[in-house]
Amino acid sequence: MIDSHCHLDLACFTSDLDAVIQRAEEQGIKRFLIPGIEPTHWSRQVKIQKHFPQVDIAFGYHPYFLPQSLSSSDIPNMIEQLAQWIEANQPIAVGEIGLDRTLPQPLAIQEAIFVEQIKLAKIHSLPLVIHHRKSHDRLLGILRQQRFEHGGVIHAFSGNAEIARGYIDLGFKLGVGGTITYPRGQKTLDTLIEVGVEHLVLETDSPDMPMHGRQGQRNMPENLTDVLCVLAEALTVSQDIIEVQTDANYSATFFAPRNTDM
Ligand SMILES: [Zn+2]
Repeated sequence: MIDSHCHLDLACFTSDLDAVIQRAEEQGIKRFLIPGIEPTHWSRQVKIQKHFPQVDIAFGYHPYFLPQSLSSSDIPNMIEQLAQWIEANQPIAVGEIGLDRTLPQPLAIQEAIFVEQIKLAKIHSLPLVIHHRKSHDRLLGILRQQRFEHGGVIHAFSGNAEIARGYIDLGFKLGVGGTITYPRGQKTLDTLIEVGVEHLVLETDSPDMPMHGRQGQRNMPENLTDVLCVLAEALTVSQDIIEVQTDANYSATFFAPRNTDM
């Protein structure tokens, strides 16, 4: 099993990361992807990866962590910095990037930096890890407009089957996490049943998005078994099948041989 989205670089994991990874491995989680959020965390991700070879990393500017005073004139330097980090450390994706309509940051500036990060991913032939919140319309529009062909993952996917198909047609997998362990996650679960396991990857979003019954606790990769359990039941297939297929989806997304445009 692979946790395709866990923020193990955050301060709440500093003191016991060894134990967190060990407990996850005891539950059968053998790889972890730490998505990037902003430059000071990128260096922490690189340090973690040196210590834990089973950790994959991505770099990007997460919309939630953009400076409040961000203006479009700051973007070229930020993109240059990201390009240097990509060249020096070879992440497996550009992310976590995206659009979030619940943030105070105007959508126009979020879109401006999102587009530039997509362009950078195209140059390096890297897939994307995408954050969405009330923004499927713009995300799909921009990805189509940019003719993005390297796929990636729509993190914490929620939406109907039509939206799901829009992303799948663009080569994306859907990230499935703790939301489906709640009764309110049934709509998303219905979409996932319609879509099928061949388009899904598993994730916890640790330390956020706690599983049902574990509210108020730090979420951890070991809890991925809760997601596996609910998904297997909903799809009426064995946990083994889900595990094998979602692992294969992760590899196909992030480790497929690619021709670089460079
Ligand atoms: Zn995240």
